Amino acid sequence: MKLVRTISQVRTAVRAARKAGKTVGLVPTMGAFHKGHLSLIRSAAKEKDFAVVSVFVNPTQFGPSEDYDKYPRDLDRDADLAAKEGADLLFAPSVEEMYPGEPSTTVTERVLARRLEGQLRPGHFDGVCTVCCKLFCIVLPDAAYFGQKDFQQTRVVTRMTRDLNLPLEIRVCPTVREEDGLAMSSRNAYLSPKDRLSARCLWKALTTAQKAFERGVRDGEKLRQGMRKVILAEPGAEVDYVSIAHPDTLVELRRIDRAAVGLLAVQVGATRLIDNVLLQDATSDNGR
Ligand code: AMP
Repeated sequence: MKLVRTISQVRTAVRAARKAGKTVGLVPTMGAFHKGHLSLIRSAAKEKDFAVVSVFVNPTQFGPSEDYDKYPRDLDRDADLAAKEGADLLFAPSVEEMYPGEPSTTVTERVLARRLEGQLRPGHFDGVCTVCCKLFCIVLPDAAYFGQKDFQQTRVVTRMTRDLNLPLEIRVCPTVREEDGLAMSSRNAYLSPKDRLSARCLWKALTTAQKAFERGVRDGEKLRQGMRKVILAEPGAEVDYVSIAHPDTLVELRRIDRAAVGLLAVQVGATRLIDNVLLQDATSDNGR
């Protein structure tokens, strides 16, 4: 695996791979790898001939009071892990390489990005869309790999890709979890041992909704209330939002027709965590 820092090095390496007839996969990340990231890299390496992984803590997707400065960074470790999973190229640009000077162009997805995370983190998805669009243009992959863990992000990026006719497929891979159900996240590293125990309430709330759905509950508000109750019972945790939404439009559902997604954002101590679960009939083909 080769580690490169500049856009022109990426273009040269990808051009050579293309010339050799290879397909190209891209895994965009902010680094501090855990098993969730590694599963995306594994999928890209398995499905494509040339797997590119980017590691870039993108400042434009962090709000002014968010954790950009303290976000965990360990490129040597990430490079080792990516190589072991079969990555061919690791692209770790500087902020100056990605944003030379103040940019005057931003990519905005105007509908899905306004909901949920977008309400609480204004500008966040503009940062995500812009950096993903730039990475897609730099690497020109056949497919880019994203985790279901960031469900709204997968929807926003898919919509942007379609609206802009970007010639790649967006692949969504399942959420990788700790043994007790907590979704793996680079931000879990911030949790104190006490917070780590409290953080179990996210998966507990989502599985509560899942079980109720399996019992036949289709009332969105009932499911939301059930989730909220689980979080409220956890003294170390505070609800940012609880949602039972349509999986494509992210509109809150009063009644679930075929499928829904349960989403939540919870403040655990000083750490903000998000997670989600798809609710769909076993017989429905993904409900869509
Ligand atoms: P990040 O480095 O947090 O920006 O994440 C990079 C990619 O990894 C995104 O597509 C995330 O959705 C994905 N990801 C993060 N956590 C997980 C997880 N637990 N399981 C699967 N994918 C994940």
